[in-house]
Amino acid sequence: MGRTRVEVWKRGEKYALEGRVQITESDDTQVKAIVSGTESYEVFLKFLARGIRKQCTCPYAGGDVCKHMVATSLIWDNMRGFAPPAEDKVELETIHPPPISRKQIATCYAHPLKADLDIIRVATDYYNLSPKKHARLPRCPRIETYEKVPLTLTEVKGALKQMEKWAKRKTYHNYFCAGEMAAAFSEMLDILEKRLASSPPEVMIGIMAYCVDWYYRKFEQMVDGSDGVWIFPVARIGKIVTRLLEKYPEHPAWHEFNQIVEEIGIWWGDDLNAETIARWRNSNLN
Ligand SMILES: [Zn+2]
Repeated sequence: MGRTRVEVWKRGEKYALEGRVQITESDDTQVKAIVSGTESYEVFLKFLARGIRKQCTCPYAGGDVCKHMVATSLIWDNMRGFAPPAEDKVELETIHPPPISRKQIATCYAHPLKADLDIIRVATDYYNLSPKKHARLPRCPRIETYEKVPLTLTEVKGALKQMEKWAKRKTYHNYFCAGEMAAAFSEMLDILEKRLASSPPEVMIGIMAYCVDWYYRKFEQMVDGSDGVWIFPVARIGKIVTRLLEKYPEHPAWHEFNQIVEEIGIWWGDDLNAETIARWRNSNLN
């Protein structure tokens, strides 16, 4: 909702308490309401991937948050079961109704392979009353998406390098951008999986070793894992390694794969090899 002046907030809160808000249409992402004061005004709030669209027909609302919007967001939050911000926070914090629902987030975590990655991108904002301004990242690093083109390790290294550059952006924040980074890495892994059938097994196995290595050495440094967003790329790496193991169980390239990941395992104190990584596969897949 952006930073709202406290007096506007107070008036909006009063309006909400006085029952002046009539919600005419709503779901988890948008709401329409009529707010009655000296005059009646129409409010429209909608969560977009990159912010909130907010409209009110009152004269005050020229780009600013007005009391009608505040009143509407409070009633809407209440409808969706969210508590209003604590009194002492009001002066310090912005009013920021979450762009997504708790249930949507929970569903993503329960089924990481089927998760809507756009929800993961903004999930971190949800947990915070006052999300910090942070870098919005591209959806996926540049990589060929056509599934008939065989993969090369060079191509994958280039894509991962791009993501490392994103983390050097001024507004990059390892907590608030964690969901976006995890979603972008996941999208790239989904492309690798699509191109798996056209790629030679030794190349694919080598690429996956590189991805596991990158996950530990780079990804873990670029994101704050406290919200558990790491589960999304991890489930995908597990799925791809499982597929490769099923298809090429005896391939000699696994020897090198195991050497590479065991080395990372020793570094991280984890016991890693192709089999343990295959178990990263999300159990809710089937
Ligand atoms: Zn207004």
